[in-house]
Amino acid sequence: MRVYVAGVQHESSSFSPIPTSLASFRTVQWGRVPREATFGVGYGEACELAASMGLDVVAGPLSDAQPSLPATASAWASLRDGVVDGLRDALATGPVDIVFLCLHGAQMADGVDDCEGELLGLVRTLAPQAAIGALLDLHANVTSAMLEQADLVVSCREYPHIDYDVRAEEMLPVLIDIARGATRPTTAGVRLAAPGIYPTTEPPMLDFVRRFTEAQSRPGVLAVSVNHGFEGSDHPDMGSSVVVTTDGDPELAASMAHELAGAFLEVVRSRSWRGPDVPTALDEAFAFEGRPVVVADRSDNAGGGAASDSTYVLEELIARGARDVALALLWDPVAVRLCHDAGDGARIPLRIGGKAGPQSGRPLDVFAEVTCVRSDAKQALFGKGEPRFRLGRSAAIRLGGPGGIDVVMNEYRQQVFSRHCFSEHGIDPVQRHVLVVKSTQHFMNDFGGAGGGDALAAHVVRCDAPGTMTPDLASLPYVRIRRPMLGIDPVDELGIESMSIAPR
Ligand SMILES: [Zn+2]
Repeated sequence: MRVYVAGVQHESSSFSPIPTSLASFRTVQWGRVPREATFGVGYGEACELAASMGLDVVAGPLSDAQPSLPATASAWASLRDGVVDGLRDALATGPVDIVFLCLHGAQMADGVDDCEGELLGLVRTLAPQAAIGALLDLHANVTSAMLEQADLVVSCREYPHIDYDVRAEEMLPVLIDIARGATRPTTAGVRLAAPGIYPTTEPPMLDFVRRFTEAQSRPGVLAVSVNHGFEGSDHPDMGSSVVVTTDGDPELAASMAHELAGAFLEVVRSRSWRGPDVPTALDEAFAFEGRPVVVADRSDNAGGGAASDSTYVLEELIARGARDVALALLWDPVAVRLCHDAGDGARIPLRIGGKAGPQSGRPLDVFAEVTCVRSDAKQALFGKGEPRFRLGRSAAIRLGGPGGIDVVMNEYRQQVFSRHCFSEHGIDPVQRHVLVVKSTQHFMNDFGGAGGGDALAAHVVRCDAPGTMTPDLASLPYVRIRRPMLGIDPVDELGIESMSIAPR
């Protein structure tokens, strides 16, 4: 059997201050770059796994970019056509039995709400007989078009997203069976007007993931996915969802999707949406006796489209004369450049942060000691495995003298995944009283020990600073989403809506 593996990934935020062009994307191809560069979101994993199962692997491109505004129409057309042209080339040299696409599920472009649905439709037209599978991020806003065009749509189920390899392992045998005609996939999807942040490292989602993972092993069930949805996408299909695929049993698929959606609603209702504001969060952190305490500045998470240059937390730390604290990653390429020009050990006046947009707060004028400049620092994607994710040029500065506030700034906008953001710059995170990380939840695999490793954090505080990723969804200028929506409108009774999936 021949399998074509490719992908495009972008989580598009209608509220991001960062534009998205073709230059925003990085493209790799399995077999043409070091294998490690293709790992993390299931693409390299699927290629290697398929090869190990004896499949003939044709690798197309995988392109990905940091979350930001919907891409320009021309950028999307180029990325989309890259995947489609790769498939066309593969078909020119022989039949393709399986198409395995690594997508996000919340990708938008100018004039296109549902990039994944459009791409899957083109792939279906080109290879109507192939078994088509799509591996998504659980922050997908799943659409009817995606479920109509693909045979199997599966999302990662852990947040932090550490299970792409496991999902790929589950998908490939199912896709092989579909291609052989041994299995006839039937999918049901239900949508809930309840997007949100649902960490799977703690109850109640910890228990719910276990529950629907068990449900997947019921007779006749091929796959179960629970999508949290991505609240930054301002279009009518934004929301969370449950997707169930069975072997030729549409009633079972529908009943299980509704059953699990009902259970997911209980989870949604039982969690609180809001965390403390900046002063309250810092009070809590500095009052805690153990160390380190991790304060998550989740509203400025680059992984959801924020600039990662906001200064709300840092301004408060400076105003308090805080000691024994380190903050990462402040995205400020200009300040990084100045630090590199000044060099290690320099003491310089510097204006940092607060540049990208109104959600960034005020730029801060500080007097800084440059403590470390690097051009090769990396961190571990999702806090998993070796540090391979490049920070670009980076610089650590110290404010307030020894024992004061260390700030790590970098050039390639990204959230904090792992402790390397600190340790690569000579900052021992274990020794600090308070660590501020710009991230919502992915930091938890390393700092919180969610991946089975040692927990670094003695305590975690999730802080609600102002910002692009504010959990106060009612404050965002939505225009096109369906209403009412949990977290935005007063909702007494949340509905479960069956998605219509037209037969092919
Ligand atoms: Zn995600």
